[in-house]
Amino acid sequence: MNAIATATPVAETIQEDLNPFHIAQEQFEQAIRYLPEYQEGLVEYLVRPERVIITEFPITTHGGHVRNFTGYRVLHNRARGPGKGGIRYHPDVTADEVRALAAWMTWKCAVMNVPFGGAKGGVICDPKKLTKDDLRMITRRFIAELGDAIGPHTDIPAPDVNTSAETMAWVFDTYAMMHPGLNNTPVVTGKPVDMGGSYGRNEATSRGCLFCTQHALSRGLVDGMDSVDGATVAVQGYGNAGSIAAMLYAEQGAVIIAVSDSRGAIFCAEGFDPVAALEHKKSTGSVVGLPGTEAISNEELLALECDILIPAALENQIRADNADDVKARLIAEAANGPTTPAADRILFAKGIPVLPDILANAGGVTVSYYEWVQNIENEQWDEDEVNHKLLRKMNRATDSVLDTQKKVNGSLAEIEGERRKLGRGEDPLEKIDLRMAAYILAVRRVAEVTLRRGIWP
Ligand code: NAD
Repeated sequence: MNAIATATPVAETIQEDLNPFHIAQEQFEQAIRYLPEYQEGLVEYLVRPERVIITEFPITTHGGHVRNFTGYRVLHNRARGPGKGGIRYHPDVTADEVRALAAWMTWKCAVMNVPFGGAKGGVICDPKKLTKDDLRMITRRFIAELGDAIGPHTDIPAPDVNTSAETMAWVFDTYAMMHPGLNNTPVVTGKPVDMGGSYGRNEATSRGCLFCTQHALSRGLVDGMDSVDGATVAVQGYGNAGSIAAMLYAEQGAVIIAVSDSRGAIFCAEGFDPVAALEHKKSTGSVVGLPGTEAISNEELLALECDILIPAALENQIRADNADDVKARLIAEAANGPTTPAADRILFAKGIPVLPDILANAGGVTVSYYEWVQNIENEQWDEDEVNHKLLRKMNRATDSVLDTQKKVNGSLAEIEGERRKLGRGEDPLEKIDLRMAAYILAVRRVAEVTLRRGIWP
C-alpha cells in the first residue's frame, strides 16, 4: 500500500502517493488551513501519533513450524478519552497504514462525540493461509506482548479486517488471564454477545452507514433522491461491513445491483438477494458465481451507473486514475480510507458527494462505546435501545458535518482574513467537501479539549 500509482485521468499524468499515513497527514493539513487560530506546536502534536509499538513474536504454527510475526499498536491521541480502534490481520499491514487508521479513529470519535481517542492495531499475516489455532495463538501472543499498553481506560481494541467477535473473545481472555480479579470486560469491544458483547455491535458499522445515508438524503444532499427506497446500490467488499450494509439497505427498499470481494465482482441490473450472495460466499468462498448474476471486475463495479456506491473493502480504491469513471450519485464510505485526496477533488468537481469514513462508518465505534458503557455498568441493553441510541447519534453527527460544510463555505472570506492577520498564509481557500467538514469539526473538538485540559505540565 506504499506504492505510487501512475494514472492518466484527464490526459495529464498524475503520480499519486498512496501511503495511507501521508494521505491522513495531507487531509489534516488541508483541514488546518480552515482553523488558523491554532498554533503550530499544537497542530504538530495533533497530527503525530502519541505512541507507536512494534512487536516481533514467534508462534508454532500448524505442522510444527516456528514462524515470526510483526504486530503494531498505534495510539494516536488520548485528549478526549482512552484510545479506541480495531485490530487488523492482513498481509499488507504496515506501520504507516496503522498510523493512518489510528489518526482516522481520533477524528471519527470526535465527529461522533464519543469520549475516546484514536488507536489501531495490526499484525502482518495472511489469515487465508493460517488455521484457527494459529490465529488464536497469534492473538494471544500479540496481546501478551502489548501487556499494559492496552486496558479498559487506556486503549481498547475492537474488530477490523479479518478479525471477528471470536478474535475479541481471545483478546479478552488473554488480558483477563494477566489481570485476575478485575472486571476486564471493557478492555475490548466487539465481543460475542454472551460474554459481554453488545446487541447490535456486529451490524453497527453498516447500520450507522445506512442511518447516515438516510439522514443526509432526507436533508436534500442529492437532488431527486430523498431516501434509499428504490435506490440502486453497488457494494465493494463483502465482509462484515459490506455484506451487512447490502442486507440493511435492501431491507429499506434499495436494489442491490453489484457486490464484490477479493476474488471479483457480480452484477445484475434488476438486482439480486444480498442474503443469497452471502450464502454463496459462505459455501464457495466468493460471491462470484451467484446464479442470475454476471461476473465483472472490481474496477467495473466502481464505475457502474448506480445511485449509491458503498466502498467496504480497503484503502485507496477510488483514486486519481479511476475517480473520473465513477457514475454513482452518492458515495457512502463503509471502509476506512477508500478514497484518496486526488479522487476527492475529482468527485467534488463532478458534484458527487462523499459521506466520509470518519462519519459514515462511525456506527461501529459508537456501538463499541455503548458496549464499553454496558461493561463498566455490568448491564446489557436490548437491541432496540442500542439501535435507537445509534440512530440519534448518527443523525446528530450527520447534521453537524452538513452544517459545518455550509458554515465554512459561507465564511471563506472571514477565514482568509483571519489567516492573513495571524500570518498563516495568503493563499485563497477553496470550498470544502464533506470530508473536510468532518475533519474541521473533529480537529476543532480535539484541539479545544487539549487546550482546556492545558498543555501538561
Ligand atoms: P472483513 O474482513 O470482514 O471484509 C473485508 C472484505 O473486503 C472481504 O469480503 C474481502 O474479500 C473484501 N476485499 C478485500 N480486498 C478487496 C478488493 N481489492 N476488492 C474487493 N473486495 C475486497 O472486514 P470489515 O470488518 O468488513 O472491514 C472492511 C472495511 O470497513 C475496512 O476498511 C475496515 O477498516 C472498515 N471498518 C470496519 C468496521 C467493523 O466494525 N468491522 C468498522 C469501521 C470500519
